[in-house]
Amino acid sequence: MFCLNQCKSSLKNISNAFMQYNGLKVVSALSGGHRSTLSLQINARNASTQPLTQLSEDEMAMKDIVQRLAQQKIQPLVKQMDQNSMMDKSVIDALFQNGLMAVDVDPKYGGTGSSFFSAMLVIEELAKVDPSVSVFCDVQNTLVIQTFTRFASEEQRVKYLPRIAKDCVGAFCLSEPDSGSDAFALKTNAVKEGSNYVLNGTKCWITNAEHAGLFIVYANANPSAGYKGITCFIVERNTPGLTVAKHEDKLGIRASSTCPVIFDNVKVPESNVVGQVGHGYKYAIGTLNEGRIGIGAQMLGLAEGCFDHAVKYTLERKQFGQRIFDFQGMQHQIARIGAEIEAAKLLVYNAARLRDAKKPFIKEAAIAKLYASEVAANASEKCVEWLGGVGFTRDFPVEKYYRDSKIGAIYEGTSNIQLNTIAKHIADEYK
Ligand SMILES: Cc1cc2nc3c(=O)[nH]c(=O)nc-3n(C[C@H](O)[C@H](O)[C@H](O)COP(=O)(O)OP(=O)(O)OC[C@H]3O[C@@H](n4cnc5c(N)ncnc54)[C@H](O)[C@@H]3O)c2cc1C
Repeated sequence: MFCLNQCKSSLKNISNAFMQYNGLKVVSALSGGHRSTLSLQINARNASTQPLTQLSEDEMAMKDIVQRLAQQKIQPLVKQMDQNSMMDKSVIDALFQNGLMAVDVDPKYGGTGSSFFSAMLVIEELAKVDPSVSVFCDVQNTLVIQTFTRFASEEQRVKYLPRIAKDCVGAFCLSEPDSGSDAFALKTNAVKEGSNYVLNGTKCWITNAEHAGLFIVYANANPSAGYKGITCFIVERNTPGLTVAKHEDKLGIRASSTCPVIFDNVKVPESNVVGQVGHGYKYAIGTLNEGRIGIGAQMLGLAEGCFDHAVKYTLERKQFGQRIFDFQGMQHQIARIGAEIEAAKLLVYNAARLRDAKKPFIKEAAIAKLYASEVAANASEKCVEWLGGVGFTRDFPVEKYYRDSKIGAIYEGTSNIQLNTIAKHIADEYK
């Protein structure tokens, strides 16, 4: 029950009124005379009282498992994997064995049976230690698995999800050399021949391609219909004509493979079309909207991991006879980054919880990705500075976070594309 004082004019004439609004029963009682105080009794049965950052027992357990795994199995390999631009097989195996590659997949398909929000916690925790491992897990849990759980047929789920949960890495192939932000201008085509489609074209920038056992591929089955010809296919790696080319030599997230994937007369059975022919553009954007929360979580974890290293350093390093943390000039910078990280966390968690609650989340997902990637870039830049000279060397981990942060503003829709989405929603709200 709430007591709202000074709730004035508009409710003045309502005496003992009983209002029903969005499932909330509101009983108002004028407290008499010309006093403007209203006492509103609100039956808050449905009111949400849970703080966004409060985790359930399951969520805490998931976070704890990932923290331990990241410290024990991933941390010792981070530097070597970055130097060699190669994800260690033991890391991939550990992710599968601990159920982290199919977090919100129903156990009947071999998944962990947790929520999308829990998948975001996994991505965040992994990014604290290595943003490359985080995106490896992110692409599987968001772009690949969501394609199956939201758009694929039951036969396709039964056939592929158990493999995806057990040991099969997936990749999401949308971008091409001439279609990045303008993704639906893609040129890869799919021509129907009997009971097959024959795919020809080149995809680029494909995360996880090096290890992938299956590819979600967007190709146009009816170019004369423009983007309404775009169709989504499941393509197995060993299909003749499919080639994964050499991985890109990147600035950051170097242990995550990013490769061109070439389709040269690749025959895909009709039964591997996801959903309806010509509806691929809807599936791609639908999956990317969710994927953006994942990138937000990755960037959030990156900022937290980097901040943790750097703050500890400022508490140990002494100059002018005192800890560098104790200079107010340092404290204000540290406090500002701490506040930005907290804000990014609330945005990412809110978008993920909205998605799990089946409420609209597209604008919130775009804001979360945009803001978390800015915070990651800003935080990691500051962390390099707070370490002084050693921050600029590869002997300390912060320079890697700085390099890894840049991708947040580029993939799954650049920051400008997120701003376009946010602006479109604002325009709609003011129509
Ligand atoms: C490491 C890495 C991993 C990736 N993984 C995948 C993957 O797994 N699968 C996949 O399909 N793709 C993947 N991508 C591709 C990624 O999604 C694209 O790079 C991204 O969408 C941008 O496209 P682009 O590189 O062609 O840049 P462009 O679209 O050419 O953009 C260049 C610049 O122009 C700006 N711009 C373009 N259009 C507009 C506009 N309308 N308004 C304002 N500004 C605009 C952009 O913001 C950007 O600053 C990956 C990319 C990288 C680098």
